[in-house]
Amino acid sequence: MNRKAIDELKQRIPLLDYLQAHGWQPARSIRGGRLMGLCPLHTDRKPSFLADLNRNLFYCYGCARGGDVIRFAEFYHQVKFPEAVALLREWCGATPLLEEAGNFYRLQLSRHCEAVAYLQQRGLREPGVLDHMRIGYAPGRCLRAWLGQLGYALPALHEAGLVNGNGCDTYAHRIVFPLEGNLYGRSIGDAAPHRFLPGGKGGLYAWESVRRCEEVVLVEGLFDYAVLWQWGFPNVTCSLGNHLNARQFQQLCDGPRTVYLAFDADANGSGPSAAQWLSRRLAAQGVSARRVQLPDGHDPNSFFVQGGDAYQFQRLLQAALP
Ligand SMILES: [Zn+2]
Repeated sequence: MNRKAIDELKQRIPLLDYLQAHGWQPARSIRGGRLMGLCPLHTDRKPSFLADLNRNLFYCYGCARGGDVIRFAEFYHQVKFPEAVALLREWCGATPLLEEAGNFYRLQLSRHCEAVAYLQQRGLREPGVLDHMRIGYAPGRCLRAWLGQLGYALPALHEAGLVNGNGCDTYAHRIVFPLEGNLYGRSIGDAAPHRFLPGGKGGLYAWESVRRCEEVVLVEGLFDYAVLWQWGFPNVTCSLGNHLNARQFQQLCDGPRTVYLAFDADANGSGPSAAQWLSRRLAAQGVSARRVQLPDGHDPNSFFVQGGDAYQFQRLLQAALP
């Protein structure tokens, strides 16, 4: 991308729009069309983040980071310049595209018995949870034609990562979950299990709906999230893997709460050690964390699939270790 294209991109994205789309709220305005608020880039207790709307620049007096909207995207998503540019381009143009792709997948779900069977095998039976998470299925056909009909050109689909060089759906034979600015695809066949579009995995799943809860249950995977939600635990969120990005960590630290870490009790110990590491980091930020001890070899999904119920899971929460 040349200098001119970069400048055009920056002009297309008012800094305030981008900040607000990522959950930032100004606390007060000061002279010269400038706003102050909590810094989205570090754990901030009093507003130290300044947004200058006339110049489309920001500066944080707490962590001393500042710059334009591209710089903000670099810090916020922890990516380098070219990836930040790609994310911003996607943000201004491709969000409706991903929504349309999600709509297509959603319609396909009930038409493909292999997908329904897979969901049942993972304990997802209630239509409520399918609607709540907008779960879909990529049958591996027709996506391109569907989106083409809506006016999306093939290069745009390719650039977004939805189709490969041959125009085939890159999510073929996957259960698809829409995320904020991305799609997560879980393979139901032999392909690598997890797939995301290029760009970050974003913040914690459905964070807005749980951020005001005093107690939050954090899980690794969306199938863990789904069963817990279905079994009546609305205060659950998901980090899509046991390594949290900076934004997800900051979300957990943005207010007083107790976080129950219900990571996989996998045989290689990666879930438990990630939980231990995370609980120490949370404690250092003044957030109380408790590690849920699932039976060996289980994750929350398999716990429920193999006969666990809400009462038993509640007991695990009560017995969770600091
Ligand atoms: Zn800061």
